[in-house]
Amino acid sequence: MSRFWNSRTRGLSPYVPGEQPQQSAYIKLNTNENPYPPSPAALDAIKRAADERLRLYPDPACREFREAVAERWRVKPEQVFAGNGSDEVLAFAFAAFFETEAGAAPRRIPPVLFPDITYSFYPVYARLWGIPCECPRVRDDFSIDHTDFLTPCGGVVFPNPNAPTGAALPREHVLAIARYHAEQNAVVIVDEAYAAFAAPRLSVIDRIAEHPNLLAVHTLSKSASLAGLRLGFAVGSEELIEGLCRVRDSFNSYPVDRIALAGGAAAVRDAAYYEETTRKIIATRDRVSAALVEKGYTVTPSSANFLFIRHPALSGAEFFTRLREAGILTRHFNTGRIADFIRVSIGSDADMDAFLTACAKEMV
Ligand code: PMP
Repeated sequence: MSRFWNSRTRGLSPYVPGEQPQQSAYIKLNTNENPYPPSPAALDAIKRAADERLRLYPDPACREFREAVAERWRVKPEQVFAGNGSDEVLAFAFAAFFETEAGAAPRRIPPVLFPDITYSFYPVYARLWGIPCECPRVRDDFSIDHTDFLTPCGGVVFPNPNAPTGAALPREHVLAIARYHAEQNAVVIVDEAYAAFAAPRLSVIDRIAEHPNLLAVHTLSKSASLAGLRLGFAVGSEELIEGLCRVRDSFNSYPVDRIALAGGAAAVRDAAYYEETTRKIIATRDRVSAALVEKGYTVTPSSANFLFIRHPALSGAEFFTRLREAGILTRHFNTGRIADFIRVSIGSDADMDAFLTACAKEMV
């Protein structure tokens, strides 16, 4: 605590991102990055954007990128919002659509709902903006019971597939949640950071037109291999997108830089390249999952680019530490029902073979 902090800063409990070692010999399976390089077309566009035009501000409307997204997902550019990573898009969405304690008249504010086991940034945003929230319990197998979210509230947010479990909620259940809350004028945010790794298709972008209160949030950090570029986007009705723009333009008119806009547009247009890398990641995930189950590990069925794994004998903390000592970085959330699990991002086949070898040693 510092005496210079205001009461808001003192009350924050910031998100702690996974470790990013600067030079390291670690096999890095801790932040769900993609082991394959970005599309050559995206890298080329990034290099071409790095010229004297950098003295100029970027397009505040992010037109080129939004048009590429609109074309790929068959929506209108007016239904697309771009931000500096999907974390920023989510932060703006919380600010734009969920009622805050400070902003509301003195009455009980209906809480925003998100699952008790989920992306740990959501409670951080809620705290930052002063948004009350409640967290229905996911089932013991970590699946979400969608009926828990069919209740009057201030809005709903969840990732699909969920993080850090990888569990997917069927599209029909997502749409049922959106339909229920449309009647109550509450916004439903589906964080589809990992949806590209799900089969059959999980994203609800193609159903946005029927659900004016449904916002699908995507990132180029995972399936598009561009975590270092910081680019995310949301697709929703024009009124939702306009709400996001109002918040952004009260904060920073240019959150997405010229290089990110150029690289992002080229990446979105190179669907063929990413279909291939995504297919490889899914195949590796399913192979590693089957190998672990065979050895007695508990592995939650995953629709994402990571596995949620419990060692048959070791605690989550001990399993994490032993892998770290073996040169493999994973993620451990030392909390509640998930303390005995670790989350392991899907790396290259060679990385995952090294992981399986380390796991075999941990069994003796
Ligand atoms: N949503 C979920 C569920 C995530 O796991 C992440 C990555 N930590 C994000 C959003 C944010 O991704 P980014 O800001 O890199 O787009």
